[in-house]
Amino acid sequence: MTSCIIKEKKDTQLSICHYFGVRPSQPVQKTAPKKKKRKFEQLYLDLGQRDFGKPVHCHTCGMMYVPGVKEDGMTHAQRCHVFQHGVRWTPTPAMRLVNKVSADECILEIRHTDPRILRNKLAAVLDVVQRELSFVTDTDGLTPQQTAYLYIVQNRVVGLIVAETIAEAFTVHSSERRDALMGIFQLWVHANHRRKGIASRLVTAAREHKVFGMVVPFHQTAFSSPTQSGLEFAKQYANGPVLVYNCASLELK
Ligand SMILES: [Zn+2]
Repeated sequence: MTSCIIKEKKDTQLSICHYFGVRPSQPVQKTAPKKKKRKFEQLYLDLGQRDFGKPVHCHTCGMMYVPGVKEDGMTHAQRCHVFQHGVRWTPTPAMRLVNKVSADECILEIRHTDPRILRNKLAAVLDVVQRELSFVTDTDGLTPQQTAYLYIVQNRVVGLIVAETIAEAFTVHSSERRDALMGIFQLWVHANHRRKGIASRLVTAAREHKVFGMVVPFHQTAFSSPTQSGLEFAKQYANGPVLVYNCASLELK
């Protein structure tokens, strides 16, 4: 497994992992014969030898990995890099562009019928999103009812909506049943790109493109099990009542 990420100097976590990975795992001997070697051993201790071989939880990306196991360190470094900067995604004319926001910002649409290469890339995005939202699904792709919209900034995915067709939803407070056309199954914006209107543009893109030939009115758009912050966003966007669906419980405020 090789990656250009490995060469990046600023990723200190990686250099430590990699360093451990290629060094012998024996405990440091007190009777080191050569001066040169003693210097090296001191460094080894400073880097936290007590944790050597024990799984570590990364607070940035949430991954458990074992420092000192080379493959673990490399897998973690790659995932952590993607987590911090977003999955790389270079738009091409063959992709379905639904909104060219600016020279290096756009929204792309991905359907379950798209070529496998696109769906595989989408699966990598969903992996990052689901890890961050601690969201568990049994599929790593889209169902036939679902369409994804990706927000790309400088060739990185920084936002995602998975929208799906639904038939009914409920009001948040009274749990009244309402007809609905579109459900927002997942909505995610990268932490470094929040409060820039990306979520709003994604919802608008989904409303304009999910159902052929119409713009889905907001009163027929519902949110699947929204978090508190998701609900706050929806209220702001709607400037009125918000519909929800798929909720295990409707004890939302
Ligand atoms: Zn990490």
